[in-house]
This record gives sequence, structure tokens and C-alpha cells, in this order.
Amino acid sequence: MSQEILVVYPGSFDPPTNGHLDIIERSSKLFLKIVVAVADNCNKRHTFSLKERLQLLQESTKSLKNVKVTSFSGLLADYLEQINSFVLIRGLRAISDFEYEFQMALMNRNLNKKIETVFLMPDQAYTFLSSGMVKEIAMFGGNVSSLVPKCVGEKLKKRFCEHIKK
Ligand code: ADP
Repeated sequence: MSQEILVVYPGSFDPPTNGHLDIIERSSKLFLKIVVAVADNCNKRHTFSLKERLQLLQESTKSLKNVKVTSFSGLLADYLEQINSFVLIRGLRAISDFEYEFQMALMNRNLNKKIETVFLMPDQAYTFLSSGMVKEIAMFGGNVSSLVPKCVGEKLKKRFCEHIKK
């Protein structure tokens, strides 16, 4: 039964936005168990540490009982094998996401032919939203309260205010 499978939503979530949350909520209605897997990728420079990104996601998804937040390092295909899951969730905002996501999906399938990627589209209101955009607005003191969960808004404020004070 397809809905009983464990599905994984991987990403950097630096920081989580309402767009990510929209995809997590949609997934939690479609599947019984969802693992949100935060990438611990030391080659990427992140604004928030792995611990912070995990905490923010845990706080933002605490009302969704079938969602578990965890982290992984190394190849996603290897992590999926370890936890015996072969279905990935990814979000598609616009055609501009398509090429990269298409490549990733086919590369993952090339690494392990059991891996399937399911694409979900967020509410139209979030199609312009990205973690990078949110950070840029927050950095210049803009209001991001409609774009991110409350805990993320507070964290951004603290991070960038500290940055300005230094
Ligand atoms: P990545 O995994 O590419 O480093 P992200 O953490 O930003 O980046 O994104 C994880 C997944 O969530 C990707 O599939 C991305 O397309 C999707 N995503 C990011 N922002 C949104 C949004 N506003 N609406 C829907 N999906 C999104």
C-alpha cells in the first residue's frame, strides 16, 4: 500500500520558510510517515547551524504527529538505503526549479533505481519564496512575519540584529 511507506523530504532548510512548511503539511496528509531530513553538508556555507535548523523545524512541525525531523550527512541515496525508504518529496515552485530538481531526481535514481521522487507544488502564495530571499529581507530589517514560522522570524531578527551591532 503506497501510503504506508516512509517518505523523506530532504533539504538545507536554512532557514525553514512557510513554503517548506506548506510542502510538509501537504505530505503529512498524503503519507503516514514523513521524515524531514536536514542536510549536514560541510561544503555549503549555512547561516544557521545544523542544530539551529533542526530546532526550528522541530518547533514549526510539532503539531504534525506523523512528521519526524532528523539530519543526514553524505549521500542522500545512502541515507535512504539505511532507513529503508525510497520515496523522496521535493517542492516545485516554478519552472526555474524544474531543471535542477529533474537532474537530482534522475541522479538519485541512477544511484539507486528504487528511488522515486514525488513533486508537490506549494500554495501560490509561496511560489516566490526562498530561504535566500527571506534572509536578504531580514538582513535589511524588513518584515518577514508572513513568510516564515514565528520561531524563524525571531531567530532571524536576533541573528541579523547581532550582526548589525557588531
Ligand atoms: P536545497 O535542498 O535545494 O538545498 P531548500 O532547503 O531550500 O534547498 O529546499 C528543499 C526543497 O524544498 C526543494 O525541493 C525546494 O524546491 C523546496 N522548496 C523551497 N522553498 C519552497 C517553497 N517556497 N515552496 C515550495 N517548495 C519549496
